[in-house]
Amino acid sequence: MELTDQLSESELQIASALADMAIARGGTFDDYQTPIYLRGLVDLDSQLVARACEALGLEPREDYTPVVPPVGTIRQRVGELARKDTAAEAAKKLLPLPVSEDNEKPYFCLDCRDEPYAWRVYRCGGLGKAAGMVGGEGAVFACARRNDHAAHTYVERCGCYSTNPVSAEHRRRMDAAKAKRETKRR
Ligand SMILES: [Zn+2]
Ligand SMILES: [Zn+2]
Repeated sequence: MELTDQLSESELQIASALADMAIARGGTFDDYQTPIYLRGLVDLDSQLVARACEALGLEPREDYTPVVPPVGTIRQRVGELARKDTAAEAAKKLLPLPVSEDNEKPYFCLDCRDEPYAWRVYRCGGLGKAAGMVGGEGAVFACARRNDHAAHTYVERCGCYSTNPVSAEHRRRMDAAKAKRETKRR
C-alpha cells in the first residue's frame, strides 16, 4: 500500500507542501522523510504549514543548508504566521482613529479614556450596613458581590476593547518596548 493512501486530508496537504518546497529549493523530498516530518507537524494547522512551506520555498537557499529545513524551522515559521494572522484579524476590527480640529487629542472612548487594556473604572456603593459612598472617578455601578461590603472601586473590561484603535496603539507600543528590553537582556 502507498503511504499516501493512509494519510488524512490535512496530512496529505502537508506532505504535498513539503514535496513542493523541496523542489522549489532545488532538491527532492525523500519518502522516508515524510512520516518523520508529518509526526513533527501534524498538530499544526495544515493551511499554515502549507503557507510556511511555500514561503520557505521562495527564499534563496544558502549553500550547505538542507533542501528541506528542519521541522523546528517550519514550526517556527508557522508560529510567526499564526501570530501575524491574529494581529491582522485584531487590526481589522479596529475602528478609525478619532480626528480633532484643535490640537487636543479627543478620547476615542470616554468610558475607559483609552486605557491601554481598556479597563474601565466603576464605583460600587457597597451593600448592607457597610455601604457608603466612594470618591474618585468612574461610573457608579453596583458590583456583582451579594454579601455585605463597603464601597469600593473596581475595573472591568470596557466594551471598546476589540475596536479601540488608541488602546490598541498603546498596547502595541508597550509590547514593542517590552520586546526591546528583552532582546537587550539577552
Ligand atoms: Zn472604552
Ligand atoms: Zn461592590
